[in-house]
Amino acid sequence: MQKSTIDLRSDTVTRPSVAMRAVMAAADVGDDVYGDDPTVNRLQAITAELFGYEAALFAPSGTQSNLIGLMTHCGRGDEYLVGQLAHTYKYEAGGAAVLGSIQPQPLPQQPDGSLALADIEGANKPDDIHFARTRLLALENTIGGKVVPREYLAKATALAHRHNLITHLDGARICNAAVQQNISMREAVAGFDSVSVCLSKGLGAPIGSLLCGDRDFIIAAKRWRKMLGGGLRQAGILAAAGIYALEHNIERLAEDHANAALLAQSLSAIEEITVTAPHTNILYVDLPQHAVDALGPFLRERGIIATVGSHMRLVTHLDVSTADVERTVAAFKDFFA
Ligand SMILES: *Cc1c(COP(=O)(O)O)cnc(C)c1O
Repeated sequence: MQKSTIDLRSDTVTRPSVAMRAVMAAADVGDDVYGDDPTVNRLQAITAELFGYEAALFAPSGTQSNLIGLMTHCGRGDEYLVGQLAHTYKYEAGGAAVLGSIQPQPLPQQPDGSLALADIEGANKPDDIHFARTRLLALENTIGGKVVPREYLAKATALAHRHNLITHLDGARICNAAVQQNISMREAVAGFDSVSVCLSKGLGAPIGSLLCGDRDFIIAAKRWRKMLGGGLRQAGILAAAGIYALEHNIERLAEDHANAALLAQSLSAIEEITVTAPHTNILYVDLPQHAVDALGPFLRERGIIATVGSHMRLVTHLDVSTADVERTVAAFKDFFA
């Protein structure tokens, strides 16, 4: 793909920068299955400290770190409460149920991305041999690019703990939420017993996710990671990219948010489409049906890649500049002219 291509499908499409590749090439490595890789150990220590947990575990993907988290917290015949639109429920191929024997209890997502407290309370099952054992509440932030309100997260996690439920946060894009709210990573994950954080979304690393929690939890999680095939050897080459991402690419997420806001604002001038104002780096555009088939190829001819549908998602990231946003807006305006 040429450098001038603008890829708005996802923030997962970023390629590691020259500086990131340099630290990867220079990384000190060892066999991480033996716990010998100094760079992996450093990444885990930095992440645990940043998010305020005792320990962290490096995993190849967010899907795997969520699954490790659920399988470490819950056993066969347990249940977890989760949103209908949550990644762990809807977009991870049913792993918790299939591989973990953990029953999901999906709850409707409210428009702001939250789960109604009454729904959580109502779904928490009493101790009765007819029921699965409700063990855990899983929330996600950001969800669909939306920042879930902090006051809500405090209430939901307190409610869960009052009912002896464990709390897990799918924080694939938690750094976007924290930057948008101008709060620390620790404040953003307050109330959660564990969190998974993706390095390969807006933070721009090629691979990787970290699962954070208390020390005993992470020791147990390491066994599940091995079972799921996530025990890697000289993974310091990847961890170096992660350290670089945490050190250089968190604050700059604000630029992606500004670009998404600019894109949304500029596109909303086009009468035929409806744009939802983004909280972070993800915006949604509703297209008239007649535009759906033709817009994708039209954009592609102009070097712009997007997943086009009647409710289309556009994502800004490290490799989308303000000039790219302007080029995208011009292409949309040409199409609808
Ligand atoms: C991308 C994503 C994941 C999974 O991460 P992968 O590294 O793609 O497996 C989990 N949760 C959310 C909210 C995500 O956006």
